[in-house]
Amino acid sequence: MLPQTSTTRLAPSPTGALHLGNAFAFLVNWAFARANGVRIILRIEDLDGPRVKWGAADDIVGTLRWLGIDWDEGPHFQSGDLSPYVRAMRTLAERGLAYPSDLSRGEIEAAGGAPQEGSGESRFPASLRPRDWDAVGGFVDTGTNWRFATPDRVVRFCDRVAGEQAINPSASIGDFVLWTKRGVPSYQLAVVVDDARQGVTEVVRGNDLLDSAARQALLYEALGFAAIPNYSHVPLVVGPDGRRLAKRHGDSRVEHYRGKGVPAEAVVGLVAHWCGMTPRLEPLTAIEFRDGFSLGRLAGAFTRQFLPKDDAWLLSQA
Ligand code: GLU
Repeated sequence: MLPQTSTTRLAPSPTGALHLGNAFAFLVNWAFARANGVRIILRIEDLDGPRVKWGAADDIVGTLRWLGIDWDEGPHFQSGDLSPYVRAMRTLAERGLAYPSDLSRGEIEAAGGAPQEGSGESRFPASLRPRDWDAVGGFVDTGTNWRFATPDRVVRFCDRVAGEQAINPSASIGDFVLWTKRGVPSYQLAVVVDDARQGVTEVVRGNDLLDSAARQALLYEALGFAAIPNYSHVPLVVGPDGRRLAKRHGDSRVEHYRGKGVPAEAVVGLVAHWCGMTPRLEPLTAIEFRDGFSLGRLAGAFTRQFLPKDDAWLLSQA
């Protein structure tokens, strides 16, 4: 049992419908929390302006409920009040840890910042910091990106699923964006400010964010927040080609199956099977899934892929 005050969050980005990979991560997070007396906050991460889709948040909430997932607080919307993020920016700027930079991606790459595979971001080396970067004085939102002066050191933490980690964000990503020229905080800043102020002690999410955890740990420290949460980065569901589940593998939206009459128990049963809980595919209620779930087992057990076979089984349950 974790301490009574443990809190986790479900943090969907309303950029599209939930697919089976998301359903897997949310069910795992929920079952872990419910089996251990952890409080659950639902937080809609709707600051990613260009990618946020109107109506997606309502659809996601509906899909989560249909799966049998519940929560104790929220939904909270990040876009509702930007002042906590502005306060954090002021702190970082005053401490000489954040500075404005209007260098474009092309300019960063021309200056030797290598594009990072898959992230769409380029490494921003310390050599590109403007003159007097550590004495900007205060934060002003003037339509410019603000970056974190990433210290050059290795961040170590023990992930409950992925094991011991040693990551140097300065080597992989360099000075990352904290505040965007669109006038909103970046994902990295918003997630740290919210996890800290909402008392989040457990973070359970896909392991595509494992690298981000090291960046977030640096921000916890820079902002003077209490200890970083316990991290559990769960494997991503992949297609037959070994790449993470996406549109190219066909329509794996939960609503696609629901629309065809597939019951929630079939989706939950598939997730349970992926978690190594059941030897054969069989329908399961969310409560049965919760009762049999173990986070520890996930690390070794998860070898499943979203094969055409699983899709056929789901449809056969309609
Ligand atoms: N909103 C993020 C996503 O949907 C998750 C962020 C997090 O769990 O830290 O990918």
